Amino acid sequence: MRFDIITIFPGFFAGIFEHGVIKRAIQGGLLEVAVHDLREFTHDRHRTVDDRPFGGGEGMVLKPEPLAEAVEHLELAPRQERRVKGQTVILLSAQGKRYSQAMARELAQNSRVVLLCGRYEGVDERVSELIADQELSIGDYVLSGGELAAAVVLDTTMRLLPGVLGNQASSEYESFGLADGLLESKTGEGVSSIHGAGGLLDYPHYTRPAEFRGLTVPEVLSSGNHEQIRRWRRQQAIRKTLRNRPDLLQTAALSTEDRSYLRTLELHAEGAQSKDSV
Ligand code: SAM
Repeated sequence: MRFDIITIFPGFFAGIFEHGVIKRAIQGGLLEVAVHDLREFTHDRHRTVDDRPFGGGEGMVLKPEPLAEAVEHLELAPRQERRVKGQTVILLSAQGKRYSQAMARELAQNSRVVLLCGRYEGVDERVSELIADQELSIGDYVLSGGELAAAVVLDTTMRLLPGVLGNQASSEYESFGLADGLLESKTGEGVSSIHGAGGLLDYPHYTRPAEFRGLTVPEVLSSGNHEQIRRWRRQQAIRKTLRNRPDLLQTAALSTEDRSYLRTLELHAEGAQSKDSV
């Protein structure tokens, strides 16, 4: 898979590709990244990439021509054919669709992804209308430039490519991971347990020492009983999701066992609330 990043600050990316999983993916030939200086696609003495906004107002706006030329230089398929060819041009923007793990999974199906980094007050709207295929935001906050957002999109996507993570299952067993298999109950009561995170947050992890500042590792994890460990981890994932991201429970893949555990937690919380109100 190849990423092309177009930016006015190519130096921003120095170092980013020289560590950990990204470095290994590049060295292993699974990932290729090229960073392009937007100013290379200007034709005036000052290498101008921005201009004042029509209508007045604060700041400067990135001009459309250098961005258009930079994308054309990459010799992608025509815009209407890019999807079928596994190519996409993304404009990083606070006004874009909110990026998620599901989008990372979709992006990982492509062979080429181009990331356009905005700066200043943003990018001339015609770039979104004529050049980019999608506009993505990495969250509901405003960054000073698209470079950090591009790094986030690149990192989250490339680790899903087959062969990049040492253990392929790790991307299914982490937060927001897919339910990669449903184990049907023999009694016909529906799905009895879920393989993979199934849209929940990850369960808590522990390593040595077994005791740290008075807190010991939950006993079940040293029991060697795989079924008990599986159940405990699943319950902890449900607990954490309920506490920190209850919205995820609306769409998570939950088994009958999960649902009854969730119900116990909710009843417990309702009980505690009614005690408080007495
Ligand atoms: N005036 C813009 C607005 O209010 O939406 C903010 C422009 S921001 C200072 C400059 C650039 O940072 C944007 O063009 C975009 O490329 C990038 N950026 C800012 N926030 C972002 C976000 N949440 N996700 C992705 N890119 C973002």
